[in-house]
Amino acid sequence: MDACCICREPLGAPIYESSRPISITSLCQVLEGYTRVWHCAGCGHTQTAPLPALEIYYAEEYQMLTACEEEDQFYVVRDGNNIFRTEHQVATLLNKLVVPEDAQVLDYGCAKAATLKALCGQRADLTPHVFDVSERYRSFWNAFMPEAQQAIDQVPDAWTGRFDLVTSFFALEHVADPRAMVAAVHQLLRESGWFYFLVPNLFANTADLVVADHVNHFSKASLTRLLGDAGFTACEIDAEVHNSAWVITAQKGKPSSTALPTESLVGPLTKMADYWRAFGKRVRDFESAHEGASAIYGSGFYGTFISTCLEQPERVRCFLDQNPHRQKQRLLERPIVAPETLPEEVCSIYIGLNPRVAREEIAAVKDLYSRECDFFYP
Ligand SMILES: [Zn+2]
Repeated sequence: MDACCICREPLGAPIYESSRPISITSLCQVLEGYTRVWHCAGCGHTQTAPLPALEIYYAEEYQMLTACEEEDQFYVVRDGNNIFRTEHQVATLLNKLVVPEDAQVLDYGCAKAATLKALCGQRADLTPHVFDVSERYRSFWNAFMPEAQQAIDQVPDAWTGRFDLVTSFFALEHVADPRAMVAAVHQLLRESGWFYFLVPNLFANTADLVVADHVNHFSKASLTRLLGDAGFTACEIDAEVHNSAWVITAQKGKPSSTALPTESLVGPLTKMADYWRAFGKRVRDFESAHEGASAIYGSGFYGTFISTCLEQPERVRCFLDQNPHRQKQRLLERPIVAPETLPEEVCSIYIGLNPRVAREEIAAVKDLYSRECDFFYP
């Protein structure tokens, strides 16, 4: 990695390198190779070098709604009802943006395009379009639009300047050249059209720094720079409405003089990198202080990361997870079970949750908290 992919300034030394040649993806696959992360002090962007093993991973294994991704589909419990991610994303979009009557809408890097499908379910006047680099989602698209509104690999010339709205849900973090993608979206929009997208916010979920397949880790500053350079104006970057994500609303028009945030992120990023550098040793210190069987609470990224840090992973009997979808599955050859079925022999538990919420969440799991176990908190 020699240049920043947002401002193109040269990059110095990485701020983080994994201690072993093991990397973990957002779908909890364990891949060979070091995770290396750079921070650009100039524009506030943070980026990860793509792993050589990632190409094979995308071609052969990357399937939405497998492994960890399914768990992500569950968003939050509100007033006793389960809210799912797609539902939340549609509600947020319609809340933040007035989508014009009969609008032409494109979901860019769409995978199954579940959010667009749900949006069209509420707004029959919209004309949906999709673009992705893979054939494998074709059957999902066919369920709600004709083939002429689908594009794979390349967008037809006729689509230039067509769209009132281009959406993108968790795609830009995977892209090696975000400038090219944002420029492409800009071309597809009509004058004053809207680009609405979501990307992870690593300041709300520190694990994003060490996720191997997230090339881009955006800050408010690097998003503002990226959009401004491409000719977007009236940018709003919201960190509140979606857990651990930035929600961005940008309009095509004369670039405005939106002031770039100038606060340095070197301090917070260095602190985050230090946290992950020390993480493995903290796990192993806890491990060597406890004998016998253990379990890992959380079968997502944090739980997987903990498991790869252990000297004796064979002592882990199971993963614990409250999500019923996950309880039927296995992770790293271990069963995933409900917390109340924790085996009696387990006397130490590693908590694999976002450190911002870990203690609060565990305190609410009564079956666990009342057990005489020692807990490792991330
Ligand atoms: Zn930069």
